[in-house]
Amino acid sequence: MDRYVRQEIFIGKKEQKKLEKSKVVVIGLGALGSLTSELLVRAGIGEITLVDKDKIEIENLQRQHLYSEKDVGKYKVKVAKKKLCEINSNVIVKVIVDMLNEDNLNVLESDLVLDCTDNFEARFLINKYCVRHKIPWIYASAIRDKGNVLVVKNLCFNCVFGYRKTFEKCASVGILNTITSLVSSVQVNEALKLLTGKKYEKELLRFDLGSNEFTKVKVSKKKNCEVCG
Ligand SMILES: [Zn+2]
Repeated sequence: MDRYVRQEIFIGKKEQKKLEKSKVVVIGLGALGSLTSELLVRAGIGEITLVDKDKIEIENLQRQHLYSEKDVGKYKVKVAKKKLCEINSNVIVKVIVDMLNEDNLNVLESDLVLDCTDNFEARFLINKYCVRHKIPWIYASAIRDKGNVLVVKNLCFNCVFGYRKTFEKCASVGILNTITSLVSSVQVNEALKLLTGKKYEKELLRFDLGSNEFTKVKVSKKKNCEVCG
């Protein structure tokens, strides 16, 4: 029996084949990146590249999928690769033990880039490269019990958010594992649509698990943007 049969019935055989030929890059292997990469590997994408420089700490285990107590002190991407290959040996898993920077931006060369970072500096780097090389990417963020997802295709992150620095950190204000799991699921859901050529979400999605308000915000390109203008 085909391992993807339940998914294939829903998305179609041709679409499943498209997934199996696609190459995705995940930047950041924390709460978002670890679940996002697991969902993609289970869904049967062809190749995934994981980029992160951090080692696993005990406080990560509250929300970061793929990691266990015995993994504390090891590199996230190395542990993630081992787990992901155990889950699905058909998928090619590549790792880069480094943070994304000006010198390794060509790692973003792929069908789709998934932002699972926790800062705007990295997102503007991703945006600059992806806009120039016309690579679609999906912004995802979560803090406290709130989250955001935006598909950046024929769009520009700088137009929507302007240049800003990350002002709040999960380390100081906290984060629930429920919001990161929700945001990852939505991010991967949009990724599956993009990779199989289906209609994707064009608006900014906002989730608030405190009030259970899920909202959509219209976004557009701006004139005279320093990145895409
Ligand atoms: Zn722009």
